[in-house]
Amino acid sequence: MADIVIVGAGPAGISAAEVLCAKGLRPVVIDEGARAGGQGYRRPADDLALDMNRLMGSEAGKYAALHRRFETLRPKIDYRPRTLVWAIDGNQLHLLQDGRAETLAFDRLLLASGAMDRVAPLPGWTLPGVFTLGGAQVALKDQGCLIGSRVAFLGSSPLLALAAKQYRDMGAEIAVIADTTPFAAKAATLPALLQAPRTLLRGIWYMGASLRVGTQMLHGVTPVAVEGAGRVEALLLRDAQGRERRFACDAVALGYGLKPETQLADLAQAEFAYDPDFRLHLPKIDGLGRARPGLYLAGDGVRIGGADAAEASGTLAAHAILTDLGQPQDIALVRRLARQVERLRAFQRGLARAFAWPTAQIAALSDSVTLCRCENVTVGDVRTAMAKELGPIEVNRVKAMTRCGMGRCQGRVCGPALQEIVAAGRGGATAGRLRGQAPVKPIALAAAGDPA
Ligand SMILES: Cc1cc2nc3c(=O)[nH]c(=O)nc-3n(C[C@H](O)[C@H](O)[C@H](O)COP(=O)(O)OP(=O)(O)OC[C@H]3O[C@@H](n4cnc5c(N)ncnc54)[C@H](O)[C@@H]3O)c2cc1C
Repeated sequence: MADIVIVGAGPAGISAAEVLCAKGLRPVVIDEGARAGGQGYRRPADDLALDMNRLMGSEAGKYAALHRRFETLRPKIDYRPRTLVWAIDGNQLHLLQDGRAETLAFDRLLLASGAMDRVAPLPGWTLPGVFTLGGAQVALKDQGCLIGSRVAFLGSSPLLALAAKQYRDMGAEIAVIADTTPFAAKAATLPALLQAPRTLLRGIWYMGASLRVGTQMLHGVTPVAVEGAGRVEALLLRDAQGRERRFACDAVALGYGLKPETQLADLAQAEFAYDPDFRLHLPKIDGLGRARPGLYLAGDGVRIGGADAAEASGTLAAHAILTDLGQPQDIALVRRLARQVERLRAFQRGLARAFAWPTAQIAALSDSVTLCRCENVTVGDVRTAMAKELGPIEVNRVKAMTRCGMGRCQGRVCGPALQEIVAAGRGGATAGRLRGQAPVKPIALAAAGDPA
C-alpha cells in the first residue's frame, strides 16, 4: 500500500512531488515514459545528442531547470518509469511495467496525466504520412527523426507555428501552415490573451519567424483532402477566399489543440461537466485540484493551461494533500498559486476561442470519411445508426451501435469528432460524454488477466 501515488512525471507531477518530499513524504511517481519530463519537456535518449537548446528555443532554460530539479528529486521518491496505469479499481491501480502486470493500492492519488492532440478527420487522413502534431513533435524529440522532408501543418493551434519552426530548424521544408480559424476571430480574443502577455508575444514571434523565412501561413482555410496513392503526396485546401489550393508534401501534421487525458480521472470516479469553450467534458475540481476525497487532479490532464500552469497546479494539489493530512499550509502562498493557475487557464480559454475547434467543418464531413480508424467506422455509419433511433441519441449509444470509439484507442482519437457528428444530428445539442473504459491504452490480454 502506498500513501500517495502521483501518475505523471511532467511539470505538474514533478512539482507536486517536490512539495511532498519537502515535508518528508516519499510519494510513488509513475510514468509510462522512459524518462521524466512529460510531453512539452520531453527528454530524448542521451545517445541521440539532439541540440535541445535549439529545439526548445525560448523554453530551453525552463526545460533544463525541470530536468535538473528531477535529478535532485529522484532519490527522494519511489520513481517508476516505463509503467502504464491501465485501470483503476477502487483504491487500486493496475500497472504494466516493462510488460509485467502489477497492482498498487493507494491512500491518495494525484493524477497529472497531461494532454493529447485533438484530431478533426478529413478525407485521406488515414494515409501513411499523416501524423498528429504532437506525434510529429514526439518523433523529433523522442527519436530525433522527422515525419517527412516536406511537411504541411494543418489544424487550429498556436503549436502549429511552433512545431513548424522546430521542423524547419531540423532541416525540413515547410509546405504550408494552414489554420482553419479566420485571422479576425483570433484578433477578437486579444483581451483574454493579454492574461499572459509573455506567452502571447512568444506565439506571435513564432508566427513571425515562419513569415520571415517565407513560409506560407493561411488563416480561415477549409480542409478538402489529403491526397496520395498509398501515401501522402499533397494537401488540398480551400483558402479564406474560397480558392482551391494544392500543396505538395510528403507528410501532414494535424493539430487542433490539446485535450486533457481524462480517462484515469473517469475510472477514479471524478465527476464531469461540459465546458462550452473547449467543447469537452472536463472533471470537476475545487480551487486546489480536489476532485473527491483522496483524488487530486493537476496540470493539462484536468484543464489545458501550459507548462507553467501545470507546475503551479501540481504545487497547489500537493498543498491540498498536505492540508487534508492535517498539515497547516502557507495560505498566502496557496492563494497566490491559485490566482496564477486561474490567470494562465483563462489565457488558454482565450486560446481555445482564438484557435477554435472547427465544429461546423466536422459536422459537414461527407459520409465516406473514416471517423474511427481503429474499427473502420465512417461518418455515414454513424449518421445511419442515428437515423434508426433505437434509443436515445447520445455518444455511448452510438458507440454501442457502430463500434465507433470501441477500438484500440478507446475513443481517445475519434471521440471529439464523434461528439460533434452526434451533436449535429441532435440539432446542435450536446451529445453526452463518451465514458472512459479500461484499459485506457492497449495492453496484452495476458497482462489484464494475471496481476501479480
Ligand atoms: C505531444 C505534445 C507535445 C507538446 N509539445 C509542447 C511544446 O513543444 N511546447 C509547449 O509549450 N507545450 C507543449 N505541449 C504542452 C505541454 O506538454 C504541457 O503544457 C505540459 O507538459 C503539461 O504538463 P503536465 O505535467 O500537465 O503533463 P505532461 O507534461 O504531459 O506529463 C504527463 C505525463 O503523464 C504520463 N502519463 C499519462 N497517462 C499515463 C498513464 N496512464 N500511465 C502512466 N503515465 C501516464 C505521460 O507519460 C506524461 O509523461 C505538448 C503537449 C503534447 C501532448
